[in-house]
Amino acid sequence: MAQVRELSLSITEFLNNSSVPRVRRCPGCGAIMEYLPVTFHFDGEAWDIGLPVCTRCEPTALELIEHRRVA
Ligand SMILES: [Zn+2]
Repeated sequence: MAQVRELSLSITEFLNNSSVPRVRRCPGCGAIMEYLPVTFHFDGEAWDIGLPVCTRCEPTALELIEHRRVA
């Protein structure tokens, strides 16, 4: 079970270090990207990670963001 524990620690470490800068510009069109809130559950813990999306290049992402805000 040592290997499983090690893998678990690696994933936890990765999630703890995956905080993204709050302002990021789209490499495609230069617009400021929105953050799609995503909650990631692993090993009894939860992380709120903002997934950067460009609503100009991906208009459907805006619907997802609005939906998550209401929910
Ligand atoms: Zn874009």
